[in-house]
Amino acid sequence: MGDPRVVIVGGGYAGATIATSLDAVADVTLIEPKDSFVHATGALRAAVDASWEDRVFFPYNRLLTRGRVVHEYAQAVTSTQVRVSAGRVVDADYLVLATGTAYPFPAKFIESDVLVAKARLARLREALREARAVMIVGAGPVGLELAGELSAAFPALKLTIVDRARDVLTTGDYLPELCSAIRSQLDDRGVAFELGSPLGYLPPVDVGVLAPFTVHTRAGRRIDADVWFRCYGNTPVTDFLVGDLAGARRADGHIAVAPTLSIPGFPTVFAIGDITDIPETKRASAAIAHAHVAAANIRALIDGREPSATHEPAAELVVLPLGPDAGASQVLRPDGAREVLGARETSEMKGIDLFSTAMAQLFSTAAPAAR
Ligand SMILES: Cc1cc2nc3c(=O)[nH]c(=O)nc-3n(C[C@H](O)[C@H](O)[C@H](O)COP(=O)(O)OP(=O)(O)OC[C@H]3O[C@@H](n4cnc5c(N)ncnc54)[C@H](O)[C@@H]3O)c2cc1C
Repeated sequence: MGDPRVVIVGGGYAGATIATSLDAVADVTLIEPKDSFVHATGALRAAVDASWEDRVFFPYNRLLTRGRVVHEYAQAVTSTQVRVSAGRVVDADYLVLATGTAYPFPAKFIESDVLVAKARLARLREALREARAVMIVGAGPVGLELAGELSAAFPALKLTIVDRARDVLTTGDYLPELCSAIRSQLDDRGVAFELGSPLGYLPPVDVGVLAPFTVHTRAGRRIDADVWFRCYGNTPVTDFLVGDLAGARRADGHIAVAPTLSIPGFPTVFAIGDITDIPETKRASAAIAHAHVAAANIRALIDGREPSATHEPAAELVVLPLGPDAGASQVLRPDGAREVLGARETSEMKGIDLFSTAMAQLFSTAAPAAR
């Protein structure tokens, strides 16, 4: 009998991590339409600086030594089979769902071909060089981080952040000191805030495209800009669940999981990363932690043991750079108390490298696949 077949759907942070973790002990198939992994944490820097593209896109050809990456969309998934295109079916002894969330450009990409994704980024950078004013809709972590990158790279750009909420960072359990630190650093760079009223209507142009427009908030404030970005709406990608797994998808698109990260009623099917309903902020660090738990449990099942690894949601934390040398963070001290750190610590923890060195290491472990 051959090695047990582990099929992983989605090769983001969670899927790529569990694929490498099980490569030595199972017959791993990773199903991922993109030809290169997208390091979303660094994507906003690549939107303003072309030299960052090599630290955001990593080809999959060095990820696995024994297993394979199938560059196709999973179209229909049951607990034992994944149908990709043209009716082709991949059989699974163990199935891992890791399809993450969709988010608007330039934080994430719909393009599967890295050359097309890079061409879109190049057009965006060209638009930003020409633009005089930019509107960001959404004052959450992504909108604020984007404002930080734009204001650091293009200091003359007039930036306006719009949000229906009355303050920044209202969607998480964030300390007031964090909100005021971020707000005052962006104030110092001349960023304008239109808070407390939603836009009456969205601009009639695509995000990231140079096309001057005027919009109004419902409170009647007028905003003129040349480019806009949508920084809200993290949507779970789980619409491919069919047959016995159709009921695993909750109304909001997330998948309910047991503490072992298996789907209740399906001991050989696991869900990890942003698609889970675990009550914690959706983070790459959490997705990677899920991958290690599910990998340990699949190893136990393969060895005939009871799965015993579990995931405990971590307390709210955020490291929010505003470009390479500014920002603020909310972290946990060893005694469990929450603490807000300033620009220097935030740059050292994330802003300078954006965790790109760790991702480069993950994607360069195996020998390149023969072509
Ligand atoms: C701007 C930004 C900054 C961030 N900064 C941080 C940070 O500093 N720290 C942190 O911890 N987190 C950060 N995050 C959050 C982090 O990016 C997500 O939590 C993380 O991407 C979740 O990983 P995942 O593996 O669950 O899903 P994803 O990374 O979204 O990967 C899902 C994969 O599944 C694939 N897929 C989708 N549909 C299918 C299908 N039908 N068939 C096959 N494959 C499919 C996709 O192509 C994708 O590659 C940031 C996010 C953004 C947008």
